[in-house]
Amino acid sequence: MVVGSGPNGLAAAVHLARSGVDVQVLEAADLIGGGARSAELTLPGLVHDECSAFHPMGAGSPYLQALGLDRYGLTWRWPEIDCAHPLDDGDAGLLHRSVEVTADGLGVDGPRWRRLVGDLAVNFDDLAADLMRPIARVPRHPLKLAAFGPRALLPATVTARWLRTEKARALYGGVAAHAYYRLDRPATSAVGLMIAAAGHRYGWPVAEGGSRAITDALAAMLTDHGGKISTGVRVRSERDIPPADVVLLDLTPAAALDVLGDRVPTRVARAYRRFRHGAGAFKVDFAVEGPIPWTDPAVGRAGTVHLGGSFGDIAAAERDVTAGRMPQRPFVLLGQQYVADPTRSRDGLNPVYAYAHVPHGHAGDATDAVVAQIERFAPGFRDRILATVTAGPARLAASNPNYVGGDIVGGANSEMQVVLRPRIALDPYSIGVPGTFLCSASTPPGAGAHGMCGYNAAESALRHLRRKGADVL
Ligand SMILES: Cc1cc2nc3c(=O)[nH]c(=O)nc-3n(C[C@H](O)[C@H](O)[C@H](O)COP(=O)(O)OP(=O)(O)OC[C@H]3O[C@@H](n4cnc5c(N)ncnc54)[C@H](O)[C@@H]3O)c2cc1C
Repeated sequence: MVVGSGPNGLAAAVHLARSGVDVQVLEAADLIGGGARSAELTLPGLVHDECSAFHPMGAGSPYLQALGLDRYGLTWRWPEIDCAHPLDDGDAGLLHRSVEVTADGLGVDGPRWRRLVGDLAVNFDDLAADLMRPIARVPRHPLKLAAFGPRALLPATVTARWLRTEKARALYGGVAAHAYYRLDRPATSAVGLMIAAAGHRYGWPVAEGGSRAITDALAAMLTDHGGKISTGVRVRSERDIPPADVVLLDLTPAAALDVLGDRVPTRVARAYRRFRHGAGAFKVDFAVEGPIPWTDPAVGRAGTVHLGGSFGDIAAAERDVTAGRMPQRPFVLLGQQYVADPTRSRDGLNPVYAYAHVPHGHAGDATDAVVAQIERFAPGFRDRILATVTAGPARLAASNPNYVGGDIVGGANSEMQVVLRPRIALDPYSIGVPGTFLCSASTPPGAGAHGMCGYNAAESALRHLRRKGADVL
């Protein structure tokens, strides 16, 4: 039994089913997909991603790649420019799939960008093989990991100081902000460097037709292997889960405690209660007439746009939201998925996706702050808006209980939790109740529609089944 049909729940279910296990998935929502869903949120015919949008880690996921999901309808589409970072002087840092082209655009910082991420991009597949599984395993590529470690452990603020121009620093800062944590803390370079390296290796693609194509493909493959999915089933306690040899929970640690109650050993329960969720997201989707009027037209060719200005501005905004204060100018991630995938648009109208980093549980309306950040680099944007739909932390959490307080990364990427999540253990997927496993983004390697948490948890479950003498691959 798998509870939850996010990318990790479905990846776990597929891995178990392909290994010969009878699998059933129970999903609380009426639709499958969790954080990889899409819908016509603003106007008919405009396809918006409800959560995950850009997939360097999805395209670079060792497990998703091995599945061949293209046979089940998943097609990646790449924008010409992966990510743009406009600045107040009208210029923009541009992240291309090619390290060389990116470096060429960064002037005197070109050679430094190459040294920062060039080798990581070349070695990405080997690094991913080690970093996208629990840290306690013996590394397969120890030398490459050793070369990554010192860079990854630095605070992003220290790494940024090594770059000389505001353009390169800001470009790096926007990528580092994906850590969703204050950038002056140790290990905040890790997430950004991995995303940048994955981008240089695989690009920042979108799924044709919307991110739901990822989970639809996983669900189709699961069904093909005999698995079943029931929607509209909210699991509140173990009584709601039919008897099974193994149970995998695509839930937060606290939700797993609610479901399993007193059966969870005290040391695990204590660790799960200590697990911290991070800052929140305030999502705003727009229906927009024509393209966004960016001051620098190159920004209009990018899939992802990071809006936050200089590295210093971004670091200050991230410090504020981590501390629970709403910044006047929050970091905003904007998506122009239609640049890579025109099927998202209709009759000259485009779906524009954006979310701001806001404090955990922020109850205020951040719509104006999001619009102001866009206007700052694209004056006249406001006049092109035809419809707006918002979802703050409370609505995000209501649509998916895993987004506690609007935390969309499954738990704060603090120094400890960025690698040791949800607790320090040889098998971080084990809940300590025989046969039960946690498989959500609250486990290694953390957030993203890459399915690796699910795959790793399913591996743990398969080991348990083999120990019990079950006939599985
Ligand atoms: C606004 C936003 C933007 C994002 N952008 C990106 C991006 O660009 N790229 C990227 O890779 N990732 C992105 N993410 C993160 C990504 O969506 C998540 O990391 C990923 O979906 C985690 O997958 P999961 O399977 O662990 O959990 P989820 O996708 O959260 O799935 C959990 C599932 O469990 C179900 N569930 C919860 N409780 C119960 C219960 N009690 N009983 C039954 N079912 C239950 C939920 O309904 C849900 O379907 C974004 C997320 C958000 C919200």
